[in-house]
Amino acid sequence: MPELPEVETARRNIGRDVVGRRLDAVTVRLPKLLRDSPIPDPGVLVGRELLAAHRRAKLLWLDFSDGLSLMMHLKLAGQIAIFRPDGTRAVAGHPVPAPAGPYPHKVTHADLLFTGGTLVHYSDVRQFGWWRIMPTEDIAGTVAGFGFGPEAVGDATVTGPWLRERFARRGVPVKTVLLDQRVLAGLGNIYVDEALHAAGIHPARPAASLAGPELDRLAETIPGSLAWGIAQGGAKIIHQRAYPVDGFPAVHAREGEPCPACGTAITKTRVGGRGTYLCPTCQPGASAVPAIGPSRESGDEISGKPGDRQAG
Ligand SMILES: [Zn+2]
Repeated sequence: MPELPEVETARRNIGRDVVGRRLDAVTVRLPKLLRDSPIPDPGVLVGRELLAAHRRAKLLWLDFSDGLSLMMHLKLAGQIAIFRPDGTRAVAGHPVPAPAGPYPHKVTHADLLFTGGTLVHYSDVRQFGWWRIMPTEDIAGTVAGFGFGPEAVGDATVTGPWLRERFARRGVPVKTVLLDQRVLAGLGNIYVDEALHAAGIHPARPAASLAGPELDRLAETIPGSLAWGIAQGGAKIIHQRAYPVDGFPAVHAREGEPCPACGTAITKTRVGGRGTYLCPTCQPGASAVPAIGPSRESGDEISGKPGDRQAG
């Protein structure tokens, strides 16, 4: 969290509210936000028109006039809040700061003020996120350097047979393979749990053990779960507890609640070191297999403070 649907929601909000406007001012209160930026001074963006907002996997970038772009990665806890001159707001990403609360929050590290008075607040309670300012012509090479696989939603090449090729000879849990951004770009902990539940596949099953019909189902439920998340404007998960909207998410961060498909209590385990939610009735087949994978600190608990843990 934020995952692809949350970043896509941020991109759409920016496209609707500030594309076509000129940047009048930029404030960065956390210098390390720009720690890896090819151009270190955000002031170079002032006076330029925002031409477009793009996303690939969980990367978001804004193209400004005269050949400069601002790339962002929200990492584990980034949030983009847009405040319009009429007092309304649109918030996407991590649920801290509280979307309905006051801004700038103490974890709001940067502001972008656009012509007409629309203000974009960038917040990140964990400070893992980053901004990089670079020539627009360098964007394609930078994105290619991440080695992403095809987009997990909206790419027609992702079919059951395609997944079979990627899963062949891979004895690691299917969840681990699906989290690999070089296989599929944009899938994270929340939506892997959702897609595997919808497909009736236990997340600890070795990837290579999945049969043809299971792969066909998975090829549908992966984009289906992401599209559902995008339609909801992202998932609301606070302190490893989901606040579902219209039944979404169905299993992630809902330990002990009834499975929406069969009523069995949802259980939590660890797969590949990640907190994992599943329905033992809908997702059979690995009940004799202990949670696979090293118990390394990673993913949703990475350097988290005990009171601030966040699934995804
Ligand atoms: Zn179930």
